[in-house]
Amino acid sequence: MLRVAIDGPGGTGKSSIAKAIASLFGLEYIDTGAMYRSMGLKALRKGVSPDDEEAVKKMLEDTTLDFRDNHMYLDGEDVGGLIRTNEISMAASNISKLPCVRAKADELSKHLAATRDVVMEGRDITTVVIPDAEVKIFMTAAPEIRAERRYRQLLEAGKPADYDQILEEIQKRDYQDSHRELNPLRQAEDAEFLDTSEMDIDQVIKAVSDIITAKTGVRPAEV
Ligand code: C5P
Repeated sequence: MLRVAIDGPGGTGKSSIAKAIASLFGLEYIDTGAMYRSMGLKALRKGVSPDDEEAVKKMLEDTTLDFRDNHMYLDGEDVGGLIRTNEISMAASNISKLPCVRAKADELSKHLAATRDVVMEGRDITTVVIPDAEVKIFMTAAPEIRAERRYRQLLEAGKPADYDQILEEIQKRDYQDSHRELNPLRQAEDAEFLDTSEMDIDQVIKAVSDIITAKTGVRPAEV
């Protein structure tokens, strides 16, 4: 079995790296943030507040989540194109503090990790979802660098971007994700620490690939 678990704050490039690693090592890519984003989307659509735990619990009783072939399905609807906004990032972070929400995402994530070779990324993969993963990585980068990368991405996509606002949102989400009571973002003691602040994407892919080979002896298809 080969399970690569990657945790780290938002905007570190975890998903681009994990996708590249999935194709190099023949693993299935699982984005657990998409699960929290979907639950945040549904709560927004239904006008359910993340502070009303009973209402969220009720909402989740008839909610189905599925992640297949790099697509996130919420109640059978492919929501991939709807969950990448700042509004949904905050909605996901707000709702992810609730035990019923974490249990829902954990159930699906644990099932996926038990039935296939995966590269899975999120906030609690190395600590809670697959603490016995063959490879565990904690990936981070300075908030200013993450904000700068996001700012440039938006400009390149021809979208409006405000650097100061992006930085503020990143810092707020970092704080919430690492200070919540239940399964906060933290580095597992035995996870490899990777600061990508001064690295480009190819260097990060190479570094992760080298960690996997060093830990397991498995080599990438091509580097
Ligand atoms: O990784 P991404 O930015 O898509 O995650 C969105 C939000 O979902 C995070 O800010 C965090 O609050 C929550 N999340 C989590 N645990 C995970 C993955 C995401 O709490 N494993």
